Amino acid sequence: MSIRENLNYIQKTIPSTVTLVAVSKTKPVADLQEAYDAGIRDFGENKIQEMCDKYEALPKDIRWHMIGHVQTNKVKYMAPFVHLIHGVDSLKLLKEINKQAEKNSRVINVLLQIFIADEETKFGLDAKELDAILSTEIQQLHNVKVVGLMGMATFTDDENQVREEFKSLKQLFNLHQPHHQDLQIISMGMSGDYQMAIEEGSTMVRIGSSIFGHRNYNI
Ligand SMILES: *Cc1c(COP(=O)(O)O)cnc(C)c1O
Repeated sequence: MSIRENLNYIQKTIPSTVTLVAVSKTKPVADLQEAYDAGIRDFGENKIQEMCDKYEALPKDIRWHMIGHVQTNKVKYMAPFVHLIHGVDSLKLLKEINKQAEKNSRVINVLLQIFIADEETKFGLDAKELDAILSTEIQQLHNVKVVGLMGMATFTDDENQVREEFKSLKQLFNLHQPHHQDLQIISMGMSGDYQMAIEEGSTMVRIGSSIFGHRNYNI
């Protein structure tokens, strides 16, 4: 199936209220152009250098999502154009994004990444750390806006476990949203689990291989 056909199929399974981010990491510019021509404007990358190169090569109305773990010293490269940073998991990173956004005279929207998985390797804040960041520090940062939460479920065949993890993110969101009206987005769900994520309240899904095919990391 072509990229266009994959997109047609996926878009039929996603409500219009849910944003589809096409995760194009490792894929060549020609593939992104094909998705663009099929109407996609939201693209997700996980390496800043790769995202900058693709930004240069592609139309300027694309909304670029940084979905990977962000190193503080690289924020400056994407600060002029990034649309949404999904993986923010420390105050230090928030402060750096604020600083670089200010230099570019803009406000950068971010999601706080929450640790919901049962794995050592996933990044993210726990409930206490989220509470601390939301209740104290962010008020002083005028060039960064926390607009939602992001999470990644455990890589497992156990559907019940994945569902419980999605529920836990939604619950955290519901707990804080009444006091932080800027919180609007719940970014959860990938190729293998996006339908369940939507059932559990996701408003933004990040889908790669179901659109572009499997990734080859060896090229
Ligand atoms: C790669 C990646 C995705 C997309 O994964 P697929 O299984 O290919 O859909 C989504 N979110 C993040 C954070 C990723 O790194």
